[in-house]
Amino acid sequence: MSLPPIDGPPDPAGGDCVGCGRCCHHPPSTVSLLADDEARLDEEQLRRLSVIEARPPFFRFLLHRDGHCVALDEATPGRHACAIYAVRPTGCRTVEAGSPCCLEARRLGHLGSSVEFRRTDTSAVE
Ligand code: SF4
Ligand code: SF4
Repeated sequence: MSLPPIDGPPDPAGGDCVGCGRCCHHPPSTVSLLADDEARLDEEQLRRLSVIEARPPFFRFLLHRDGHCVALDEATPGRHACAIYAVRPTGCRTVEAGSPCCLEARRLGHLGSSVEFRRTDTSAVE
């Protein structure tokens, strides 16, 4: 499920992100967790927000619901806050407001393909 596109560039300081949330709308198994990402989350967060794929190489991904990351707080209409912003994964940190990926997400209404979320570290898989 996408959101409607948004015209124009956002505040490069991120001031428009909570009102946008387009880059947090994406297909399942999009945001993988590297070892550092897993270390920032506690056991309860890992259990509630992520899943380890059942097939090799057993990567861990953030869970997905209704077309967006399960950590996206959609409780307030028009607001799209990340519930784990301070400890969000590395992949999320690569999507900076005003970057090509951000502009693509705003144009499409969901995350596009201009950024690859590719896990390179396999040391922390269970
Ligand atoms: S698409 Fe851009 S403006 Fe929208 S939430 Fe993501 S980084 Fe922020
Ligand atoms: S962890 Fe936060 S920033 Fe990353 S996709 Fe989920 S809601 Fe968006």
